[in-house]
Amino acid sequence: MQLFAVIGYPLKHSLSPYMHTAALAKTKIEGAYVPFEIVPMQFEAVMKSLKVLPFTGYNVTVPYKEKVIPYLDRLDTDAKAIGAVNSIHYSRGRLIGYNTDVYGFLCSLKESLSMTPCGKRVLVLGAGGAARAVVYALLKEKAQSVVVMNRTLDKAKKIIHDMRPLMGRTLLGAYAFDEKYIKKILPAVDLIVNTTSVGLKKSDPLLLPARMLPQRSVAVYDLIYNPAKTKLLQTAERRGYRIANGLGMLVYQGARSFEIWTGKKAPVAVMKKAIG
Ligand code: NAP
Repeated sequence: MQLFAVIGYPLKHSLSPYMHTAALAKTKIEGAYVPFEIVPMQFEAVMKSLKVLPFTGYNVTVPYKEKVIPYLDRLDTDAKAIGAVNSIHYSRGRLIGYNTDVYGFLCSLKESLSMTPCGKRVLVLGAGGAARAVVYALLKEKAQSVVVMNRTLDKAKKIIHDMRPLMGRTLLGAYAFDEKYIKKILPAVDLIVNTTSVGLKKSDPLLLPARMLPQRSVAVYDLIYNPAKTKLLQTAERRGYRIANGLGMLVYQGARSFEIWTGKKAPVAVMKKAIG
């Protein structure tokens, strides 16, 4: 019997248990995947006990993606570069941290928008944890330029600073949300990626004024998947742009985690169906 869990707080909306339970059943692995909600006060105690708990693999979500790092024995290259872990494998007495959001984002971009970042000019909205994974993925795949725009400018600058050693030939920029910058940047982008949490609520504003969106076609990827079409995606769709939400990213980061933990190919279609 193999046990897996998602750790985070709060966890009541997590779709991961549905997705992984379906994957375990399909691959005939005797096991279970459970939500493991850890209140912040108990976080340290739980992390110190990870090696005695009977779990083989964990997904890590908000607010612990960075906080788990000191408790792990090793990080893979992506997790180290990003500074965040969303998947842990407990194997041969060692806890190894991975960041499978990078893989999830790139697979989903390819599948949903038929796009690879190589040579593309990309505007990333937001500079939180998810933005770090997205910017890293874009650099890894040699985007032509990446502009990070965030309400808090210092956080956008920090991502650019941290990722500079990996930039290669990619041009990098950090801006605050301001119409004068939006006006300058939008005409020259191929892809807009929303990594902010703006759009989760119906009352949330549109971060980019509709009148400033270019006439030519741009692809828009929103990491939010609930609602399935944020205001940004609805507006982009009305413009005739290609759009995608973050459901594919969620599925593929989960699929990659499943493969790391079990060594078996993830049944992606089944996982997708379980949460779609
Ligand atoms: P986070 O670290 O808390 O970052 C939140 C970001 O949203 C920050 O850039 C923040 O700006 C910005 N923001 C929040 N409220 C704002 C507002 N009113 N106006 C402008 N900007 C605002 O969160 P995260 O972990 O990066 O996650 C961000 C989103 O991505 C969430 O919706 C999450 O569900 C989604 N996500 C999806 C997947 C997937 O698999 N599809 C994976 C990871 C995350 P400041 O820096 O100025 O506060």
